[in-house]
Amino acid sequence: MSGQKLGIVNLGKAAGKVKFALLDERDIDLINQYAFEARVKVDPDGNGAHIYAYTYKILKGREAGQFLHDFLWERHRGGVASGWKVVHRNGITVDNRLENLMLVPMDTQLVYDDLPSTKNREQSLYWMAVQQLQVAPLECHYPSSHVYTKQFSPNGENIHIEHDEVCVYYECHYPPCTNMEKRVREFSICGRCQEVRYCGTFCQQRDWPTHKKFCQERQLFIPLEEEESPDR
Ligand SMILES: [Zn+2]
Ligand SMILES: [Zn+2]
Repeated sequence: MSGQKLGIVNLGKAAGKVKFALLDERDIDLINQYAFEARVKVDPDGNGAHIYAYTYKILKGREAGQFLHDFLWERHRGGVASGWKVVHRNGITVDNRLENLMLVPMDTQLVYDDLPSTKNREQSLYWMAVQQLQVAPLECHYPSSHVYTKQFSPNGENIHIEHDEVCVYYECHYPPCTNMEKRVREFSICGRCQEVRYCGTFCQQRDWPTHKKFCQERQLFIPLEEEESPDR
């Protein structure tokens, strides 16, 4: 892997955390003209949701955008014939290195391990790249009160959101982990702040040294310090 240079693009917040996309070195120049953001796409078959990178030319506006994997495939490999779709080989839907993309027939159902083993995940390029982001921006760690979530159908249309489903599948809060809930409230929540969710104790423990700086006990009222009575 020596000499490999990658781009890591901040996609902003989705599913309860700041997301990043991985790009090949030759695509890093895109950031001069394109904006990137995270989009949550809910699986219509009820298998939770996935986070994708979405991109649009800054001068043309958000409406003229497309998913980054489709965009990159067109940029380097040509168009996507109808009846086909671009998917991510390793199941990490923000890992948009060209070698991680492939074309499959539209009706292909990709099955990834539910929770990839820790060993595999730690060896993934995405995991390493995100973990090595030396100084993570502050907003990576502050839980958001307003989780930015949009639901899109496979055709990119906004899906009507039922009231009961307004929330929201969370992704594991540990930055390099891409495990995402398949059912609402599947993951366990930090008992202290009740804001961030983890796929398991492994990630929660790894994230704690950082999260503890931002984790605040949930309290309805901040109790006033009892003044020490001098009479006591
Ligand atoms: Zn995790
Ligand atoms: Zn917490």
